[in-house]
Amino acid sequence: MTEAVILGLTGSIGQTAVRGCKSFKDNIHICGASVHSRVEQALSVCLENNIPNLCITSDAPCPETDKIRIWRNLKEMLLSLKADVVLNGISGSEGLKASVTVMETSPVLALANKESVVMGGSLLFSYAREHNCKIIPVDSEHSAIDELILTQGRENVSSLVITASGGPFRNSKPEELENITAAQAVKHPTWNMGPKISIDSATLANKGLEVIEAHYLFNFPADKIEVVIHPQSVVHSMVRTTSGQVYAQMSPPDMVFPIMRALLLYKFPHEAGKALDFTNLNLSFSALDSERFPFVSDAFECVRLEGAYPTVYNTANEIAVDAFIRGKIKFTQIRSVVRKALDLSWSEKISSFDDIYEIQAKVKRQVVL
Ligand code: NDP
Ligand code: MG
Repeated sequence: MTEAVILGLTGSIGQTAVRGCKSFKDNIHICGASVHSRVEQALSVCLENNIPNLCITSDAPCPETDKIRIWRNLKEMLLSLKADVVLNGISGSEGLKASVTVMETSPVLALANKESVVMGGSLLFSYAREHNCKIIPVDSEHSAIDELILTQGRENVSSLVITASGGPFRNSKPEELENITAAQAVKHPTWNMGPKISIDSATLANKGLEVIEAHYLFNFPADKIEVVIHPQSVVHSMVRTTSGQVYAQMSPPDMVFPIMRALLLYKFPHEAGKALDFTNLNLSFSALDSERFPFVSDAFECVRLEGAYPTVYNTANEIAVDAFIRGKIKFTQIRSVVRKALDLSWSEKISSFDDIYEIQAKVKRQVVL
């Protein structure tokens, strides 16, 4: 029996993980979880699914409960539980601190929180090696590439092709983007996700983050990573091999597949979700219009420049998305805010996680909304 901890229990990733673990109840048990503010909701999920430990990462109050042990310190909980695998389904850059804690305490980090990879960069992977912690990607594109590299052999893979649905405004005219509301932007055509990543999918900042994520996870340079529009989200990504062939990974657009691949440590005793149905399945691919969605080109630039740039991209975007959700800026201003931040000088050398947190604080001081 694999013992698992789910960080970000109440989120889209957390809830899908609970659904997935239910269908593998003879193989995996959730021994602990974390929540930030939605404590009541987390408690009822814990009760319903026999999750005996819950860490509350904010100061939110918690009603009396005798069935669940409440923790207020993630490291203490993880050290005590000694789980086989910890899923990081926390949203945003706060997820980096949780990833660091998981690497210090646990053998496997199932990583959905892409911000950890974008900001942590190569430091994250050297830290994982130092602490003997294996990182398994959960982001669907990266899970697909991870699988394809495993099956093809790293030495035979010449480049990576990341698919992008193009988001809800793929076919909108530039002038229509101007007045998009947060409610429109969070409605994704193929995936059901939390608000931040849904807005990032609409601006394509999510694809930008994923380009940076792929660079650090698989160690391919910018010119060996492509982005291709694929609106159906069935092909999760592809690799080109040295022979000139292309291999793709397909499954229905349900995060249960990549989440359970990581939580079950690649071993599936049965299918994780519905089988792919080829009735009326028309798959299409087209080039990304980077003039209309410049966020992806900005990310390639960050991959080339490295250093503090990926952290700046992520942090400025997080600030801008938050301002958009609060109605302070327009949809089209999200990218301008990030571009202005990237245009400042970021020559700092990153040699510790504290350096990253300092860059974050500096971006927060300097970003102009
Ligand atoms: P959600 O917004 O749905 O959920 C976020 C979770 O993180 C909640 O449980 C929330 O707790 C918790 N949380 C929020 N802020 C903090 C904090 N400061 N400290 C600790 N916990 C916090 O997000 P998603 O599930 O959509 O995404 C989670 C991560 O996975 C993101 O990094 C995203 O990019 C990545 N991802 C998501 C995919 C998806 O399909 N959703 C696909 C691929 C990657 P509370 O409810 O109490 O606020
Ligand atoms: Mg993804």
